[in-house]
Amino acid sequence: MSLYGEYDPQNIFAQIIRGDAPCYKLYEDDDVLAFLDLFPQSRGHTLVIPKKAQARNLLEIDADSLSKMILTVQKLTRVLVDELQPDGVQVAQFNGAPAGQTVFHIHMHIIPRYAGEGLGIHAASKAEAAELEALQARIVARLNG
Ligand code: 5GP
Repeated sequence: MSLYGEYDPQNIFAQIIRGDAPCYKLYEDDDVLAFLDLFPQSRGHTLVIPKKAQARNLLEIDADSLSKMILTVQKLTRVLVDELQPDGVQVAQFNGAPAGQTVFHIHMHIIPRYAGEGLGIHAASKAEAAELEALQARIVARLNG
């Protein structure tokens, strides 16, 4: 599966949206869900996904879902920066396997970057549950504070 193909409703993010799979949720409204990446490339690596669009990538998503997703990316980026005080933030979105996409429900990455710390390998090593829980608590508290 790559740039073109059928949307698979069994992909892991569709399961998370339905509540069939767990996530460390940071924010949710009717249109968008944000949660911590399970295999983070940095401390606070966050994913933002549209809930209503059955789109695999940027080529397929409708304008309304796209707008809501990027506005949530900005909102979460501000919160992550306030709480974690990184030295930079990378925002990324991959389309098709050759571009690095591994989950075929469109999503955006927010990757806080810390001076002197290299970027972890993409989708490679699973974070400790306790670490993700602690981060989730901090970020949700900041979001609601
Ligand atoms: P992509 O490679 O498609 O741009 O990004 C998919 C992201 O989803 C990767 O960063 C990977 O670490 C993350 N990921 C894969 N499976 C899961 C999961 O079950 N839960 C969460 N929270 N993230 C996942």
